[in-house]
Amino acid sequence: MKYKRILLKLSGESLMGDKQYGIDNEVVKQYAEDIKAVHAKGLEIAIVIGGGNIFRGLSAEKSGMDRAQADYMGMLATVINSMALQDALEKVGLKTRLLTAIKMEQICEPFIRRRAVRHLEKGRVVIFGAGTGNPYFTTDSAAALRAIEIKADVVLKGTRVDGIYTADPEKDPTATKYSEITFKEVYANGLNVMDMTAFTLCEENKLPIIVFDMNKTGNFMKIANGDGIGTLVK
Ligand code: UDP
Repeated sequence: MKYKRILLKLSGESLMGDKQYGIDNEVVKQYAEDIKAVHAKGLEIAIVIGGGNIFRGLSAEKSGMDRAQADYMGMLATVINSMALQDALEKVGLKTRLLTAIKMEQICEPFIRRRAVRHLEKGRVVIFGAGTGNPYFTTDSAAALRAIEIKADVVLKGTRVDGIYTADPEKDPTATKYSEITFKEVYANGLNVMDMTAFTLCEENKLPIIVFDMNKTGNFMKIANGDGIGTLVK
């Protein structure tokens, strides 16, 4: 396999499948199967999940809610998603640990970096919940931060699109996909890969990012194999 330790970032929205809100169990099951297959190849897998399918701080602020309060609600939403994925991963026979940036002792462990690394070394799939634990951040930033802390080889951003395009492919039919792009080119072309905080963190710490379509079964394995689908940012 090309990588030894990876951090998989899944957006909350990707868990919705065709639904308008919440969690589609079939999608979660499919993710669990894909993750199991890659884990069986000996890869150490850490996961960060967003919460956008349940609650987003920024949207709630637009409807009049205090931003920090709303962001904490968003972080709790990521824990709900993390628990759903944890359940699905255990149903397919994987050992898992959920570590959260906000303490919730009855349901998960607090995030302790050394502990997370130890879990990975022991072959457990580690899920990082509650984002960074701070309002005004996103789970993309949590993914970048945790990936650097645990010295992951790469951040794999699983989305519903299959990579980074020259323009929005849904609006511009002439848009083409990059197979590889540099951090500098992303800035220069005004492309949107992750929010800027997360993106800069990856750049400064020389952490490559791969954007790929997680909703196609088998894609995660291809990425883990280094098969070159999706877009590599380096
Ligand atoms: N959030 C936060 N701090 C973090 C991570 C997340 O405040 O470190 C909140 C924020 O309100 C965000 C919500 O949690 O809108 C859900 O996360 P995100 O929008 O990143 O989820 P995704 O877009 O990946 O589904």
